Amino acid sequence: MDTIATNLAEAPDIDRGFIRVRNARKIYAAGDKSVEALSEVNFDVARGEFVAILGPSGCGKSTLLMMCAGLEEATSGTVEVAGSTVTGPHPSIGIMFQDPTLLPWKTVLQNVMFPAHILGQPDSEYRDRAHKLIDMVGLHGFETKRPHELSGGMRQRVAICRALLKDPDILLMDEPFSALDAITRDEMNEVLLDIWHSYAKTALFVTHSIREAVLLADRVLVMTRRPATVVADIRVPFGRPRDMSVIETPEFAKLCAQLRGMIEHGTGKSARRPGDGPVLQPGRHGGEE
Ligand code: ADP
Repeated sequence: MDTIATNLAEAPDIDRGFIRVRNARKIYAAGDKSVEALSEVNFDVARGEFVAILGPSGCGKSTLLMMCAGLEEATSGTVEVAGSTVTGPHPSIGIMFQDPTLLPWKTVLQNVMFPAHILGQPDSEYRDRAHKLIDMVGLHGFETKRPHELSGGMRQRVAICRALLKDPDILLMDEPFSALDAITRDEMNEVLLDIWHSYAKTALFVTHSIREAVLLADRVLVMTRRPATVVADIRVPFGRPRDMSVIETPEFAKLCAQLRGMIEHGTGKSARRPGDGPVLQPGRHGGEE
């Protein structure tokens, strides 16, 4: 972390605000009614930073991520990537969702290569990179398998490779591991920590798991219930390369308890003391909170 903080102090403005969200508001029209998902959201993500967006279900986390991806328009306010206002999908952004959305009739390799294939780019340009990514996530030997022959965790590994195929500057992830069982989820968190060590992209990672946010991120943004805003921006004090052993440290438990208090009270201040018992509802899938 210290290295990132030092680099940021010297970084040009565009790198410090590689993703820049300003006064972003989102109101959905839903029949006669409207739903205000986001009220006023402001934050920056520096180039190379991994930022987790943490908040209760339904508070607007996915909406915010989709606005950064150019797949959802802000009702007011702006989202900028690398100094340009986002007006639609951006080629330098890779996305992962909870559902890996693989094409069932295509093999692992063909699914990983799909972003190049759909743009009519020659396979030869991306085949080596696809194989490297497949090896990196531990799927060597599964290149010719089809999605139905893979476990849930393996399918998400394929989705990570596909998202990274075109070497995007930014990786946006919307609860990518929340449908997996607890053990597989831990394995995927480890895979992502390893990837970060070798690739160091800029990342926005939406989750409702406090533990996952603290394990993976350099910063955690805490959102309130709907209409959501960012009430806290917390720097995670663990350096990189990082592994699962940080979970065992008292600092990890203390930070999780602090974040839990913030979410419970919907403020940037924790009314609870570190070490107090859990207060969140169990997570949707596995409830490790
Ligand atoms: P989260 O990701 O935090 O669970 P979402 O961003 O998915 O939350 O949703 C925030 C709120 O906006 C929810 O109340 C949801 O019902 C509403 N919402 C999301 N998408 C739409 C849509 N296309 N039309 C109307 N309401 C929507």
